[in-house]
Amino acid sequence: TVGAVVLDQYGNLVAGTSTGGMTAKRFGRIGDSPVIGAGTYADNESCAVSATGHGEYFIRFHVAADICSRMKYRNDTLADAANTVINDVLVKAEGDGGIIAVDAKGNIAAVFNTSGMYRAQIDTQGNLKVGIYQQWINE
Ligand code: ASP
Repeated sequence: TVGAVVLDQYGNLVAGTSTGGMTAKRFGRIGDSPVIGAGTYADNESCAVSATGHGEYFIRFHVAADICSRMKYRNDTLADAANTVINDVLVKAEGDGGIIAVDAKGNIAAVFNTSGMYRAQIDTQGNLKVGIYQQWINE
């Protein structure tokens, strides 16, 4: 799965997610990536989220939209909202995976309950940061 989240200069938040699905996935399985609210969601008033992981759980717990809703309606920070959904809600359900997200203020989150998640960040100056495990590597 490859995802991208962007905040543009006009304040628009966008998310996109592309996936080959789970290994040995069942014929006809759609997964969470194209299901808006599950593996992909963006809302200019909260954040943009793209997810990777065991899609059935991301659909069941509408992970991407839940993170946005927690920001919008509970005033959670992006970090708190993402952490609650990935490390509390999903962990209790034994759902594996993670998200990348950016909010309307430009805060970013890369939260996962697996041992690692490949990710990269490009800032407004074009600087690239990458991460595999818990730390960003070139921080
Ligand atoms: N979320 C994808 C799916 O369930 C798989 C993945 O992220 O690798 O289809």
